[in-house]
Amino acid sequence: MSLVEIADIRKRFGAVEVLKGISLTLEKGEIVAIIGRSGSGKSTMLRCINGLEKVQAGRIVVDGIDVTAPKADLNLLRQRAGMVFQSYNLFPHLNVERNVMLALKLVRKLDTPAAREVARAVVTKVGLADKLLAYPDELSGGQQQRVAIARSLAMQPTLMLFDEITSALDPELVGEVLRVLESVASEGMTMMLVTHEMNFAKNVADRVIFMHEGRIHEDGPARETLLSPRTAELRSFLNAVL
Ligand code: ADP
Ligand code: MG
Repeated sequence: MSLVEIADIRKRFGAVEVLKGISLTLEKGEIVAIIGRSGSGKSTMLRCINGLEKVQAGRIVVDGIDVTAPKADLNLLRQRAGMVFQSYNLFPHLNVERNVMLALKLVRKLDTPAAREVARAVVTKVGLADKLLAYPDELSGGQQQRVAIARSLAMQPTLMLFDEITSALDPELVGEVLRVLESVASEGMTMMLVTHEMNFAKNVADRVIFMHEGRIHEDGPARETLLSPRTAELRSFLNAVL
């Protein structure tokens, strides 16, 4: 069984269908970049995968959990499928260590020393060991986003979903976040990331999925898909972003 299996999902908001029959499978360890114009359904697809949105039709199975079952265990699902957003959503009144410890204590039920040990390890992994006791407002946007990544990694997910996590950052801060993503990727994490960083997609992703008007319009090996797009829609998208 593949790590992620999506079969013909449809998602409507009111009268507007934004996912018009999406099917894809993802193997363990795959790094997939999702690209496409604003409004093409990229975020909605990721949100359906970790159960933040309910689909009207089709089936999603993540790491053996049937997300679309009426009684899906969404807490377990969100431990298995970590998600990081454009906004870092750190708790402003908690320092870095406490931000990372919180879910470990509340969701994974670790005691304080055990949670602290995991927190220190993942914060060190994203290169912020010297900021453990800093508060979010004492950090740059890039550093805050790295803490948000550490907080997700702390839950030991089998899949990570990243939705435009560098889009709100000043250009000089994008690189440090991409480097953290690259190191997470190099450790074998399965990742789906919505990104506008085409060089990153080309160099780090195994596979690129181009979404267009609620459908997967192209899906193939990253370099080949980006360097020789098969459809006029992807060609025109790449011309607009490059
Ligand atoms: P993308 O991430 O590719 O920019 P989205 O998945 O955010 O696209 O949005 C796809 C479409 O769904 C857009 O037309 C958007 O306006 C619409 N949409 C997204 N979320 C909602 C919502 N909660 N309610 C109504 N419409 C939504
Ligand atoms: Mg989006």
